[in-house]
Amino acid sequence: MTTLIRIALQKSGRLSEDSYQLFKECGIRFDYGTGKLKSVSSNFPAEFLFLRDDDIPGYVEDGVADLGIVGENVAVESARSVQTVHRLGFSKCRLSIAIPRSESWSSISDLHGKNIATSYPRLLGNYLAEQGVQANIHEISGSVEIAPSIGLAEAVCDIVSSGSTLLSNGLKEVETIFRSEAILVANNTLNDEQQVILEKLLFRIKAVQAAKNNKYILLNAPNNAIPDIISLIPGMKSPTVVPLAMEGWSSVHSVINENDFWENIEAIRAAGAQGILVIPIEKMIN
Ligand code: ATP
Ligand code: MG
Repeated sequence: MTTLIRIALQKSGRLSEDSYQLFKECGIRFDYGTGKLKSVSSNFPAEFLFLRDDDIPGYVEDGVADLGIVGENVAVESARSVQTVHRLGFSKCRLSIAIPRSESWSSISDLHGKNIATSYPRLLGNYLAEQGVQANIHEISGSVEIAPSIGLAEAVCDIVSSGSTLLSNGLKEVETIFRSEAILVANNTLNDEQQVILEKLLFRIKAVQAAKNNKYILLNAPNNAIPDIISLIPGMKSPTVVPLAMEGWSSVHSVINENDFWENIEAIRAAGAQGILVIPIEKMIN
């Protein structure tokens, strides 16, 4: 029997869509949705398990799953022994302390002796200990942001992305204690065959990520302007320069970081570039 690597994904939530999309972009096909609990890929040696995100670190630690995608906040809070093999760059959020808008704030030591409601007692506890603040942590599993208005706590520590939930509950963010993104975690004792499959998967993930940050650029310019144009695009080390049918003109092709391009677009045009095309790259393998 051929080895399959078992990969735990969040069934439905803020990690799911991007996790499914990542595998799709890696060319790994599997069915999901309609209450499915697991699914074997039709073209990659992987079986996918669809779970609550909170359960993923534990399943990976126990070896029920070999790999998992989970928020770093959940992985660290769980204190499970798993290895972080790659940062995935999506589901970015922060864990912050918030207090009622009407309260003043000068520093974290304002929380001395106060009650703080959170679903992240470990992350909060570690942070307070580092800061030398003694406060009472009340662990609650959901709707943390209502705690101050019902008199349960003077402050909360919760996940924030835009801050709109805090705002609508009359709270203000005063201190960020942890920044999180989705991570790929692995069981600590993968066997050799599983390690080989993991390497194949990582190779594809890195190619997809590299492609997202880069663009294929094409432009036309008079031959005498080309050295200037090339020097204006950092990272454009050895572009392909092809003569055009029009005498004295060439076409420049290169792969560049999209940010480098936008920062210099005016100068590139002023130097004589015309007919500029910026094209997305689907996969990029270095
Ligand atoms: P489950 O039903 O699987 O237990 P959940 O309700 O606990 O789901 P979600 O709200 O789907 O969890 O969030 C999953 C993860 O997504 C969080 O642990 C965090 O890492 C990240 N996350 C949370 N809120 C946001 C947000 N507003 N924007 C981006 N990422 C977020
Ligand atoms: Mg959860």
